[in-house]
Amino acid sequence: MEFISKALPATKRVALVAHDNRKGTMIDWCLRHRALLEKHNLLATGTTGGKIEEATGLRVERLLSGPLGGDQQLGARISEGEVDLLVFFWDPFEPMPHDPDVKALLRIAAAWNIPVACNSSSADMIVQSALMDQAFNREVPDYQNYLEQR
Ligand code: PGA
Repeated sequence: MEFISKALPATKRVALVAHDNRKGTMIDWCLRHRALLEKHNLLATGTTGGKIEEATGLRVERLLSGPLGGDQQLGARISEGEVDLLVFFWDPFEPMPHDPDVKALLRIAAAWNIPVACNSSSADMIVQSALMDQAFNREVPDYQNYLEQR
C-alpha cells in the first residue's frame, strides 16, 4: 500500500460511541469537555447520541443504534473521509452481539489513520492536544494509486 498525506481540519467531525456500561463515562467525559466539544461537529450512534444530547445539550447527529447498523454507518463515514476523531468507549468486560461490527469499526479507523480513543484517559489526552483545534497532516492510503495498481 502506498500512502499520501491528507489534512484533518481544524474543526473536527468527532464520532462518539459508548457501549451500555460505558455510557455514564461517556456522558461524564462530554460534560467535562463540553466547551471544547461545542466548537466541533459531533455524530454518534443512536442511543449514545441521544443520551449525550439529553445530558449536555450539545447538538449531535444521530446515526442508527450500534447493534442495528450504527457502527457500520460510522465505518462508512470514516472510509469516505467524513470523520476526524473516533471516541469509542467499548466495554472490555462484556461480550457484544455485534462484536464483528465493533472490530470492523476499529479496523477501518486504523486503516484511515484517524485518531481513536477507547477510554477516557486517551480521550482526555487527545482533546487536550494542541492539534485538536488545528489542521494537521496524517498519512492515508493512496486510493488512486491503489486503483491504478489493480
Ligand atoms: P448505541 O450503540 O449508541 O446505539 O448504544 C453503541 C454500540 O453498541 O455500538
